[in-house]
Amino acid sequence: TRLTRADLDALPAYVAGRNVADVARELGLAEAIKLASNEVPFGPLPGVAEAIAEAVTQSHRYPDAGSVALRDKLAGWLDVDADRIVTGGGSVALAEHLVKATCLPGDEVVYSWRSFEAYPIIAAGVGATSVRVPNTAAHGHDLPAMADAITDRTRLVIVCNPNNPTGTSSRKDELDRFLDAVPDDTLVVLDEAYREFVTDADVPDGLRAYGDRPNVVVLRTLSKAWGLAGLRVGYLVAQPEVAGAIRKVLTPFSTSMVAQAAALAALDQEAEVRRRCAIVVDERARVTEAIRKIFPDVPASQSNFVWLPLGDRAAAFGAACEQRGVIVRPFQGDGVRVTIGTPEENDTFLAVAEKAAI
Ligand code: PMP
Repeated sequence: TRLTRADLDALPAYVAGRNVADVARELGLAEAIKLASNEVPFGPLPGVAEAIAEAVTQSHRYPDAGSVALRDKLAGWLDVDADRIVTGGGSVALAEHLVKATCLPGDEVVYSWRSFEAYPIIAAGVGATSVRVPNTAAHGHDLPAMADAITDRTRLVIVCNPNNPTGTSSRKDELDRFLDAVPDDTLVVLDEAYREFVTDADVPDGLRAYGDRPNVVVLRTLSKAWGLAGLRVGYLVAQPEVAGAIRKVLTPFSTSMVAQAAALAALDQEAEVRRRCAIVVDERARVTEAIRKIFPDVPASQSNFVWLPLGDRAAAFGAACEQRGVIVRPFQGDGVRVTIGTPEENDTFLAVAEKAAI
């Protein structure tokens, strides 16, 4: 007898970055470095640890289910009404809730490929059909083809900008045309997990540029630039009716008390976040230039990682880096994603890459 859905057998599991200590131990190295999960390498923001310690004194209580204080703070900071904001246990949880709130079994979710690995998993979770539109030769979203892929079964389109794992970004003029082409009854999610690292003025802030459109949802996270990956806090901004529908399918209490407190403290540190992002952006330019001497086809990145389009050599290159104590993220057949770390970590990666490339 079968107790779980047969269609899940064919679904690839989400592969998380390996733990640094495990890899170091396995290799007998004093230490390894992890450039595999697009984390920011500077540690928690000032004030976050203290806020967590304080919150934990109430850990026998349930958190505020509506994340009222956090939503109010985000609302003030983003200059939108709090009823347009939904928080969740990471933006990936919110993406999952968005699929739940839009799709019935057999409905279609359109996204580019390759893009964030969680999209096929969350679509399959509700029995929706994934429609993957291949990236352009330049590794970016093919927005005209994505618009063409929309059918009357399409309930959701996910635009990942900048795109994980390729780091490429869609420009305002392309997005304008794309959004104009999307039918009114299809929801578009702009997944802006890496928005804080964008420096190209032609790559729009989805909230400012498109937040007033009824069928646009902007998805953001505190996991990357804000350094809270381990605590799981994301948020989305949608029109109030859409936000209300998403709230109905939320797992109750999924933004924990500690996560809410940490997020409130982190949001007081905008200047420090900007300072940290500027370091990442400088290092991104340096790593891109250096790595292009080995792999000339590395696309320009607007995020905190670079993409090495190595195709069938991806797994071997990833393994060769890991052997030398640098954990990167290979996607066999496609490429290798390398997170920007501290300047020292990046130097180590560049030295290792030269050897691993042989
Ligand atoms: N969207 C994109 C594009 C991502 O790359 C990630 C993290 N890898 C997420 C969403 C999810 O991040 P989190 O759940 O930590 O907010």
